Amino acid sequence: MNSKLGTLIRFQELNLKIVKLEKRTQRIPEEIEAYRQTLEESRQALLEEKRLIEEHQARQRELEMEVVTLRDTLSKHKTQLMEVKTNKEYQAMLHEIEGGERGIEAKEDQILEGMMVIEEREKVVQEAQTEYEKEEKEILSKQSQLESFAAQAENEIVDLQKERGQLEGEMPEELTQQYQRIASVRNGVALAEAKDQSCQGCHVKLRPQLFTEIRTNREIITCENCSRFLYYAGP
Ligand SMILES: [Zn+2]
Repeated sequence: MNSKLGTLIRFQELNLKIVKLEKRTQRIPEEIEAYRQTLEESRQALLEEKRLIEEHQARQRELEMEVVTLRDTLSKHKTQLMEVKTNKEYQAMLHEIEGGERGIEAKEDQILEGMMVIEEREKVVQEAQTEYEKEEKEILSKQSQLESFAAQAENEIVDLQKERGQLEGEMPEELTQQYQRIASVRNGVALAEAKDQSCQGCHVKLRPQLFTEIRTNREIITCENCSRFLYYAGP
């Protein structure tokens, strides 16, 4: 094979690898940030659940205080019941006491209901907490995988660029420029395989005579349609 053609093939290989790695690594910071946001949303949702429980617990404490106050009033009324003079006063006080007892019962029912709500919510929070910890572990592991991939890719890019620089040094400047011109208008691909009588870059059929020449890989030949360098890699 013509040595320049061999160089071009490797040159393109390097260029495509570099572009691919650069594209891949460019997306990594965004991906890491997306993972961070997902985790933060889960954390906030969990905190909100915990805050709701605290609200319920505060309400419970209020109700308990209210019961204490109601019991105080009730015991005062019971003492007063012994001191009333008339039957009318007695009936009125009795009515007060009955009302007070009903009030206490109602509050105690509320407290019981509240306890059940809190118990259920605590179960939900416990599950959410376990789920969150699992998610956190997974996300941190994915993030560190991405970070180490990025570091590895960066090293690889440096190596590839070094090799590309060496090749560029070996290539005649004219050839490099021609390569860059074609690559810039052909989506970075300046070299194509000639196979089944056609250019694999643009899929246009090659003249039989041209194809025969390309098959020898002796000369630098370009496609008459897309201008890409052509090489033959076998049937
Ligand atoms: Zn072509």
